[in-house]
Amino acid sequence: MDQQAYRTFESILGAENVSQDPGLLDAYTYQWLGEMIGDHTRFGPFRPICVVLPSSTEEVQAIIKTCNRFNLKFKAHSTGWGLYCNPGGDGVVMLDLRRMNRLIEINERDMYAVVEPYVIWAQIQVEAMRRGLNCVTIGAGSCTSALANCTSLMGTANTNVSMGYNERNILGVEWVLPDGEILRLGSLGSGAGWITGDGPGPSLRGIMRGTFGALGGLGVFTKCAIRLYQWGGPSEMPSENIISIEERLLKYPERAALVAPYFENRVDFEEALARIGEAEIAYSIGLLERGLLTLGLGLDNLQSAEMRENLAPSLPKYMFPVLMVANSKSELDYQVKVLDRIIEETRGKRFELLEQEQFRDIITLFLIKGGSVPAKAVFSPTGAFNPILCGYFGTRKTLVKAMDDAEEIKRKYVESGLLADDMAEGGWSPLIIDHGHMEYFEHETLFDPAVPQSTMALMMLTMETNQSLADKKLMIPFASQVKVARAQGMAVHDSIVEHHNCDYRVLQKGFKAAFDPNNAADSCNYIESR
Ligand SMILES: Cc1cc2nc3c(=O)[nH]c(=O)nc-3n(C[C@H](O)[C@H](O)[C@H](O)COP(=O)(O)OP(=O)(O)OC[C@H]3O[C@@H](n4cnc5c(N)ncnc54)[C@H](O)[C@@H]3O)c2cc1C
Repeated sequence: MDQQAYRTFESILGAENVSQDPGLLDAYTYQWLGEMIGDHTRFGPFRPICVVLPSSTEEVQAIIKTCNRFNLKFKAHSTGWGLYCNPGGDGVVMLDLRRMNRLIEINERDMYAVVEPYVIWAQIQVEAMRRGLNCVTIGAGSCTSALANCTSLMGTANTNVSMGYNERNILGVEWVLPDGEILRLGSLGSGAGWITGDGPGPSLRGIMRGTFGALGGLGVFTKCAIRLYQWGGPSEMPSENIISIEERLLKYPERAALVAPYFENRVDFEEALARIGEAEIAYSIGLLERGLLTLGLGLDNLQSAEMRENLAPSLPKYMFPVLMVANSKSELDYQVKVLDRIIEETRGKRFELLEQEQFRDIITLFLIKGGSVPAKAVFSPTGAFNPILCGYFGTRKTLVKAMDDAEEIKRKYVESGLLADDMAEGGWSPLIIDHGHMEYFEHETLFDPAVPQSTMALMMLTMETNQSLADKKLMIPFASQVKVARAQGMAVHDSIVEHHNCDYRVLQKGFKAAFDPNNAADSCNYIESR
């Protein structure tokens, strides 16, 4: 790279916080699903040209201005849990934000936390719970960056049902734009603190992230406030045998209850889901489907296969656990009573096995904290998975169509033997957003990264599913498309199949051009202005 640019970075950050060491740069290309975009290895095809570690907003600003001056691209990296933060081409400066790790404030009265990029959900949650508050720890797990999630990438979680999707939970934001200008959004922009994201002061929530986020394509967020919600559970939830399927709570929360309804078909399942959302009784909802669970519960693939044979027939297919957390015994009784009524009216039943201690504890922890067991379930059998319907938001009824469609297409690929046998189910679902008006579903698919044909089957499945959803005028999952787009060398929104309704991309290209006149922010996971 231009040595003058490199020396400028060193003068801004100190030589110890800038590196071009080839081994270190390679480490930044190694990623989950790298084999989908590279040469069948986990090492993505593009090394960053250098890595910088800023520790403040001013340093981020100086780095970005230098990138603009020397015609370099840049990309933000917070906790780096996925290939989303890898460079999308040659010549990208990686801003690793791990030194920006301060949990600046927990505002108990106005219920928000102010954080820098390297603060993870678990840090916020532990502080919040001590104060009778909680946050929306996402399904990726409690070890991911809260800021990256809220400003830049999705926001789906089991607790969306009670605390909303994280697009709505972002309040004041400090943003270094792609040309190096600093913009403060919401009340922060008018000097009125962090309390709202939408004024007094500029509100650019839609441009900043919209539904999915710009994934680094619109600059770097350096601080943000995240909304916290009231929590009726205990201030701590100690457990034993952690990070294992045997994890148990030392004491089950007094004002919590786990109920696992199941249904004969997907239409009733969805009807119950919508009604639970409307009734506002659930704290957290959703689990891995049984095909994936049996894969994940086995200690090895043979045991998983046996479980699938023996256990799966006795596990209902259309099932999801509902966790209720109340402020009093009578409120909890009310919630359970309403849920029982909904189950009855939608022709469901309770799967009581799942409500017993050996399952109840681990599911409760997963539903509140975003635990580690799902990661085992989706990674251990083959070493890799991809959420095909990742980012699938459905309105009432469309969820059923999409789930049916995805399953039918996937069955073909599973039967070919190229993808792991999860009975073509394997979803993480369902999530409820906006009191049941939106629902969310992911269709996890396990493949063998060591077998190129298996990776190819995964790509074909993703494309076929997305095309089929587009043909039916259903919403196209975005995050699964990221990897297909990268394999095709395109920015993700540019690669999505043609839209049958209004094409939002015309506007998106305009935003990119206006906010990033020198095209400095790596936009491979967003859109190209030209
Ligand atoms: C296995 C897996 C499961 C997941 N499950 C979920 C889930 O259940 N729900 C959900 O909402 N998400 C999920 N995600 C995606 C998730 O949003 C992120 O994992 C997490 O929220 C952000 O942390 P990260 O480590 O991925 O961030 P990073 O990889 O650091 O960044 C993610 C993206 O945001 C950009 N970015 C990061 N920091 C900044 C910044 N400061 N300024 C500007 N851009 C930035 C990066 O360039 C990148 O494009 C999952 C990801 C993986 C790999």
